[in-house]
Amino acid sequence: MLAGRMMDYPLTLTHFLDRARTYHARCEIVTQNPDRTLARATYADLHRRASKLAHALARLGVRAGDRVATLCWNHARHLELYLGVPALGAVVHTLNLRLHPNELSYIASHAEDKVIVVDRSLLPLFRKFAPQVRCIQRVLVIGDDGPVDGDGLDYEALLAPEPDDFDFPRLDERSAAMICYTSGTTGNPKGVVYSHRSIVLHTLVSCMHDALGFRESDVVLPVVPMFHAMAWGLPYAAVATGARIVLPGPHLDPASLLDLMARERVTFAAGVPTIWLGILALLDEHPKRWDLSSLRSTVIGGAAAPPSLIDGFLSRHGIEVTHAWGMTETNPLGTVARLRSSLGLDPAASLAARASQGFPVPLVDQRHVGPDDRPLPWDGESMGELEVRGPWVASSYLGGEGEDRFTKDGWFKTGDVVTIDAAGYMRITDRAKDVIKSGGEWISSVALENALMSHPAVLEAAVFAARHPIWGERPLAAVVLRQGKTVSKDELHAHLEPRFAKYWLPEDYLFLERIPRTSTGKFLKSKLREQFGDLLEKKASG
Ligand code: ADP
Repeated sequence: MLAGRMMDYPLTLTHFLDRARTYHARCEIVTQNPDRTLARATYADLHRRASKLAHALARLGVRAGDRVATLCWNHARHLELYLGVPALGAVVHTLNLRLHPNELSYIASHAEDKVIVVDRSLLPLFRKFAPQVRCIQRVLVIGDDGPVDGDGLDYEALLAPEPDDFDFPRLDERSAAMICYTSGTTGNPKGVVYSHRSIVLHTLVSCMHDALGFRESDVVLPVVPMFHAMAWGLPYAAVATGARIVLPGPHLDPASLLDLMARERVTFAAGVPTIWLGILALLDEHPKRWDLSSLRSTVIGGAAAPPSLIDGFLSRHGIEVTHAWGMTETNPLGTVARLRSSLGLDPAASLAARASQGFPVPLVDQRHVGPDDRPLPWDGESMGELEVRGPWVASSYLGGEGEDRFTKDGWFKTGDVVTIDAAGYMRITDRAKDVIKSGGEWISSVALENALMSHPAVLEAAVFAARHPIWGERPLAAVVLRQGKTVSKDELHAHLEPRFAKYWLPEDYLFLERIPRTSTGKFLKSKLREQFGDLLEKKASG
């Protein structure tokens, strides 16, 4: 062993918080209030308020490792909770306000939340699950319209008398900083515990130019909620780089977001495809209404972004879209669909690569395995379950649940069914639980959906499995049409026919007003299967 060594400097979020005050004190945090007025603060305020928060929580008896839950929209207070709670050594636990009260009571109890911070507008939701949650000792209410009733403490009143500076402890970088729960579409939701170290490393890599590519000069709009999957790490990336951050509050409809982007000269925005499909449709209708010339980068992930969406933004509005894949269990960034200059791809291959889920960012490894758990070839055709590993990939769930998701040789089983091509580009063909198995063959619902969504009359399409007396399962397509457009089943069939093998083509097309969604805006195919899964059996029996 050589004698010289490097310092053991802990990788903690406290460093980002201090840095924000030291080098980016004047950088702005903009919040859209519920009444649509804009509130402005700075990173110096962020440090000051995170310090006050740490004092207040310490006074309430919050100790290292205690869980502080949030039930909040995206706003500056949530950002100070993102930083102040972990810097104190406690753990911030973001509750997803779109979940059912029963799920929320399960999750809050499971995480043993001690304190909860609630937006006043969400108190009615909180009251629905609060009685079932015994562990919560303190309720802090954000919002300044009137006195707080019951046991709640007014968040502002609590922070007001506290000192502006806190002597933040030197933390172990492996200590817990945040807990997020998976959505529980398969069984109970499971807790994923992010450490300071995992978040810091995730932040550094996501800022890389070829990952999400953040700069100090950016104006970042996280449309993705801070109550889900750490808002893809965007809040931490903004604070670490000193980028201006714009938080939309509860107004997430396409017109409000476009207004905000144009008004605040947003350069970087990120969200799920549903949001972007709505934005693209509105931009197509009114191409001149909003000045989006500042927007240099948009990241779409969380569900498959159809190529027509990526191409539509670029070809019709000059807006660059980057497709990314991740999960709550991966902090969440895993892969990004960047082009590589060394591949020399032609335009068609470039669009195909940009519409894939991409290849892993540095420090993340990928492989896909067949039913016998053996790695499959990277030939762009073999379909298998994606497994990943890396320093910000979970190696267990809170409480040791779901052990079967972790392999003996140190990989996490994602539950996504994918192909990987020779250049390492990964393509999701399905989630394991949504796979359509027809006559023993797998059919990719995502490929069919993408093709359907490239039809000019189709706004959204979800393809799912219906039981079939002969083939076991066959694909059905649920389609939502664009306003004022019509199309027949035969026309849709003709649109797909040249692109797929015959057995892949949907058995039938259902025209729906809307496709059921999960709490995070993804198509809820289990609901479609529940509603329409027996349609073909019924038809067959006459
Ligand atoms: P849940 O959907 O269970 O709440 P997450 O929000 O963590 O969990 O979602 C992770 C899942 O979302 C992935 O396993 C994958 O199926 C899907 N997903 C994420 N990004 C993409 C993408 N770019 N393309 C297709 N699917 C994606």
